[in-house]
Amino acid sequence: MGNGFFEVPIAVNEPVKSYAPGSPERKEVLETYKKMYDSKVEVPLFINGKEVKTGDTATMSPPHDHKHVLGTYHKATKKNVEEAIETALEARKKWAAMPWEQRAGIFLRAAELIAGPYRAKINAATMLAQSKNIYQAEIDAACELIDFLRFNVQFMTEIYAEQPESTSANWNRIEYRPLEGFIYAITPFNFTAIAGNLPASAALMGNVVLWKPSDSQVYSAKVVLDVFREAGVPAGVINMVMGDPVMITDTVLASPDFSGIHFTGSTNVFKDIWRKIGTNIHNYKTYPRIVGETGGKDFIVAHKSSNPKQVATAMSRGAFEFQGQKCSAASRCYISESIWKDVKNDVVADISSFKMGSPEDMGNFITAVIHEGSFDKLAKYIDAAKNDKNAEIIAGGNYDKSKGYFIEPTVIVVKDPKYTTMCTELFGPVLTVYVFDDSKWEETLHLVDETSEYGLTGAVFSEDRYALEQAVKILENAAGNFYINDKPTGAVVGQQPFGGARASGTNDKAGSKLNLYRWISPRMVKETFVSPTDYRYPFLG
Ligand code: NAD
Repeated sequence: MGNGFFEVPIAVNEPVKSYAPGSPERKEVLETYKKMYDSKVEVPLFINGKEVKTGDTATMSPPHDHKHVLGTYHKATKKNVEEAIETALEARKKWAAMPWEQRAGIFLRAAELIAGPYRAKINAATMLAQSKNIYQAEIDAACELIDFLRFNVQFMTEIYAEQPESTSANWNRIEYRPLEGFIYAITPFNFTAIAGNLPASAALMGNVVLWKPSDSQVYSAKVVLDVFREAGVPAGVINMVMGDPVMITDTVLASPDFSGIHFTGSTNVFKDIWRKIGTNIHNYKTYPRIVGETGGKDFIVAHKSSNPKQVATAMSRGAFEFQGQKCSAASRCYISESIWKDVKNDVVADISSFKMGSPEDMGNFITAVIHEGSFDKLAKYIDAAKNDKNAEIIAGGNYDKSKGYFIEPTVIVVKDPKYTTMCTELFGPVLTVYVFDDSKWEETLHLVDETSEYGLTGAVFSEDRYALEQAVKILENAAGNFYINDKPTGAVVGQQPFGGARASGTNDKAGSKLNLYRWISPRMVKETFVSPTDYRYPFLG
């Protein structure tokens, strides 16, 4: 560090722009979208500050317009992955020794680039790659990523300031070293912000990173990478490799220098990676940090005292925004019988007012699901519900993949609270509802707690404080992010740190200091000013 205890700018959440008709941001993002739609990009691997083209490519298309090609990306060979590891370790020598304020400067600059010159581009890329409507793109790709970058810089300085007591005779200092080795970041398709944050948070703390984005998000990941490059992340610090996830992961996990994984994605993939790390444990130079935020089966439970209109709005937004493809999306609801009729009427009315189509038409609340695999899986569950006498579809139920992967927002009402769609993560616009007897509040809370293997998000609605208090207690372990009278989605960095336990992850709370602690290895330094010269203690007489 230079001569000064530098203070970083106080982190403030990036204001969400409105994109209302006539606003300059709406005009700019639509023009950028059109320009990007009409051109083709080629995304190479990025290793040691260089673009690497392997010639083995895959195409990228918008989920709402799957015959249209946005460009291609290159797929890595095993040798590319090994080279990325080698060069990252070389880059580590300088990066780990870089004063923290220089690292802070780079990532604060990245935040500012996204807030300004890259905002329209990163949003348009997210609309095209992941089929987000503009509001969903803005709160993710622009605002949440900016927040991650700014708040993490502040959290880093708060961590560095945490120091032990000293005396006049000895000075105790803790140095927050980066991990020895390199970090592997594997990111999901659904949030551009997560794709940027998983490599950036580890790199901010002085680590070097191999980043593997999701095949379905490479197009917007490239914009994130361009921001990192322009912000000044040095060569070899964040390397991006795409391609066969199993080959890349096996190659990474075989390296003795693998020192941590920062993963977000589905539960079974993470469990498999954990198992492989266990198998390789004798080969590693250091015990790897394992951080994984995984699936969810998120709930809303509404007491008879709750306001039906508020419950319905939480269901409409919480279950269907971004087509239910948020890990926090409500996908199972438990509604008290006496309010169900009103809730049902409101939800069905909301859904019938939703418009569905391309995000380029800003009137569309619903766009497409991510890919054909997801579309086919969702269609299968909807068909099964149609043919099951214990399930009734009260809204939606249709789907069409001729132009894009469009699934109508669908509500299934079930008689069996353990019906498959009450338990399994579907990751799409399908919400299942179980109506419970008003007198069975406590029993229902236990049912909510015991129905799924997950523990990510959940919401309780009630105007009765005793009922609320019961829910808070009984559902203590059912969700890592628990909402009272609100929808279970929309966590904001710095305000609601995010993550869950059980099968939902290691609950290391992205967007908080807790997450950054995982990417450091403290060294305690005790300096004694005048060292003793006689081994005898006074008690020896
Ligand atoms: P996914 O598990 O299919 O993919 C995630 C990443 O893992 C991708 O980069 C993918 O290429 C890679 N991958 C896939 N198979 C692999 C394998 N066998 N070995 C190594 N890597 C592999 O998940 P997705 O569809 O991109 O994202 C949706 C999932 O992510 C949902 O389950 C959702 O709940 C979860 N998610 C969780 C959070 C959270 O904070 N808890 C946030 C976002 C998404």
